[in-house]
Amino acid sequence: MPSALLRLRSDEQLVAIFRQGSDDAFNVIHDRYRARLFAYTRQMLGGSRSDAEDALQDVFLRAYNALRVDDRPVALKAWLYRVAHNRCIDHLRRPVPPNEAIFEVSRPPMPDPLAEAERRDDLRRLVADVQNLPEQQRSALLMRELEGLSYADLADALDVTVPAVKSLLVRARIGLVEAAEARDTSCCEIRDDLSLSFGKGVRASAKARKHMKECDGCRDYRAGLKGLSSGIGALVPASPSPFGLLAKLLGLGGGA
Ligand SMILES: [Zn+2]
Repeated sequence: MPSALLRLRSDEQLVAIFRQGSDDAFNVIHDRYRARLFAYTRQMLGGSRSDAEDALQDVFLRAYNALRVDDRPVALKAWLYRVAHNRCIDHLRRPVPPNEAIFEVSRPPMPDPLAEAERRDDLRRLVADVQNLPEQQRSALLMRELEGLSYADLADALDVTVPAVKSLLVRARIGLVEAAEARDTSCCEIRDDLSLSFGKGVRASAKARKHMKECDGCRDYRAGLKGLSSGIGALVPASPSPFGLLAKLLGLGGGA
């Protein structure tokens, strides 16, 4: 059957034709999902094109073999995302090989629906926030937002229940809102917050920690506070409470 006609076929029909021995049908499946799965794997794998391309190659290889040897009915889209999700998780949990970046430049470019979006600042930050989400939340959100997978498809792809999918999506969206809030909080406010928690000798607030992920200036500010502390600590080893002392020296720590 000519490819032009195959392209008109549904996923279900393509799988059936492929199982009857037509590699052209698999090529059409590949063309139909390649760019979308590339966007998904790339976002899952921290933005690296070469990792995403390697992952994608594996995904289609696994799909080719699995669809051929198995003749059970399959919801192709959700199933492909499941294969891709598992491949990404495998990748994320294995040790990082050295010098990977060397190969990054020699690859031919691949169409990427998100590449254009990443040139806009606000969207780039959103993409970065998505990449900071925990794996399962990130995967669920990307499948939902990039591909519009249904809750049932998501449950299938992630091998969890529908309520678990809903909870993953809620937590992912809360995470994004919190990340944006932390970023939009002014550096002044964050530094007051850092000084205060530092003066009290407690951990920085969640908001401040999120903000520091994005803000070099505030991260340096906190490093400065810590450096000051160990410097002074070394000078006064006998001090009963170096933090309290430091707080007094700096005029911090609510009325101490
Ligand atoms: Zn800041």
